[in-house]
Amino acid sequence: MDKVRVRFAPSPTGPLHIGGVRTALYNYLFAKKHDGDFILRIEDTDQTRYVEGAEDYIIETLNWCGIPYDEGPGKDGGFGPYRQSDRKSIYEKYVDELIQNNKAYYAFDSTEELENQRKIAEKEGSKFSYGPKNRHELKNSLNMSSDELKAKLDAEEDYVIRFKTSASETLFMQDEIRGHIEVDSEVLDDKILFKSDGMPTYHLANIVDDHLMEISHVIRGEEWLPSLPLHVSLYKAFGWEVPKFAHLPLILKPSGKGKLSKRDGDQLGFPVFPLEWKDPANGNVSAGYREEGYLPKAVINMLALLGWNDGTDQEFFNMSEMIEKFEVKRIHKSGAKFDPEKTKWFQQHYLQQAPVEKLVKEFKNILAEKSIEVSLQYIEEVVKTIRERATFVSDFWELSWFYFEAPKEFDAKSSKKVWKKDSSSWMRALIGKLQSVDDFSQTNLQDEVKTWIKTQDLGFGKIMQPLRLALVGAMRGPDVFHIATSIGKDKTIARLEFAIDNLD
Ligand code: GLU
Repeated sequence: MDKVRVRFAPSPTGPLHIGGVRTALYNYLFAKKHDGDFILRIEDTDQTRYVEGAEDYIIETLNWCGIPYDEGPGKDGGFGPYRQSDRKSIYEKYVDELIQNNKAYYAFDSTEELENQRKIAEKEGSKFSYGPKNRHELKNSLNMSSDELKAKLDAEEDYVIRFKTSASETLFMQDEIRGHIEVDSEVLDDKILFKSDGMPTYHLANIVDDHLMEISHVIRGEEWLPSLPLHVSLYKAFGWEVPKFAHLPLILKPSGKGKLSKRDGDQLGFPVFPLEWKDPANGNVSAGYREEGYLPKAVINMLALLGWNDGTDQEFFNMSEMIEKFEVKRIHKSGAKFDPEKTKWFQQHYLQQAPVEKLVKEFKNILAEKSIEVSLQYIEEVVKTIRERATFVSDFWELSWFYFEAPKEFDAKSSKKVWKKDSSSWMRALIGKLQSVDDFSQTNLQDEVKTWIKTQDLGFGKIMQPLRLALVGAMRGPDVFHIATSIGKDKTIARLEFAIDNLD
């Protein structure tokens, strides 16, 4: 195989959908597996759809996800520029070449004229399509003398340049995921390649750039499959080698019915964007995985499996394992159902793997917002104890607040259940016992209290349950002795006294 060069070619028309991130990831994995290059190309030929900030968003997303590009904006690899608006001067020559070779033509039909054609077709129960069947009767250079054409061009009349689709040809194509595809050129229309404003359309720019950038494999979303016949025809018209194509399956709604959209995320309460996005047009904010507290490793692992597996039951993959195992032929043909719960499951897993220092640092910030200042060592001890129950760092407070402050009230249901008539007197007795314990370490405290309970001839629950209620305010939380040891003897006793005063 020649050198593998793949590209991710988003249009900066808004935030990158999670499906776009998967496309970038699969391109990256494929490139790295084959010691190839992963290129970022910004396809901004349609200036009317350009959205401020979208390009930065794309780059920030790739950085956050850990899928860096080898070449792209700001990283020249000898094939730049990598932004199509900066390549404007390149395309004209190629479209001229197609015109010279009778593979493209000028069309002068106005918007109204085309609209009219559309209406006529509709009345006849058909759909207007500018192509081999009707182009000989429309207003284009195929039906004009060269003088006529020259006069129009000299008069600077508005035009577009259309591809001249072959009238009757069977196009044979190959997709690395879907296999062999055949299309009759008759069903195709003459797509616009270039506009009189000097800008190419997506189709022309995309093919010219893929050729000039020596792209070996085009890995992109299934929504581009209908463009494949045109793209292959363009390569042929230029006489260029056709790269290999792989069209990735759609990402479907959790219900499996239809394509995953931003609306699904809003309705079902999960982000469909990697990073939070503030729409510059109306200030609306869309949630992002980063801001919701997801770790990039979890998002990437989830995305990798959305349409691919390695043929085994393995579900956790780090980046280097993914690179090693990734194979285009193992990408599924059918759409992949998005499962927000599965994403949380990956997140839970990777939170457990995350370096404790990182979690401590993040939790320290949350505590600082609450004006709680404790040592890093104390936070670490708490984090180690509760992390297994957490999915996000933002769960930490809910799972551990009683390590930092005393309960001010008690859960009514639990109180009714565990605080019996004699609980206050037993808790008073327990306070007496605790006062005599000098070594308040977890193991010693546990030994001493348990032995004491036995000598009183009591069931453990009789003491342990009200004790938990006093320390936590409810019947939940980690080992009671761990909490008592962490907050220390004085605070443990103070909480017991507060419970006695308030629960009797
Ligand atoms: N600019 C197209 C997009 O936004 C690129 C499609 C392709 O990869 O060819 O997805």
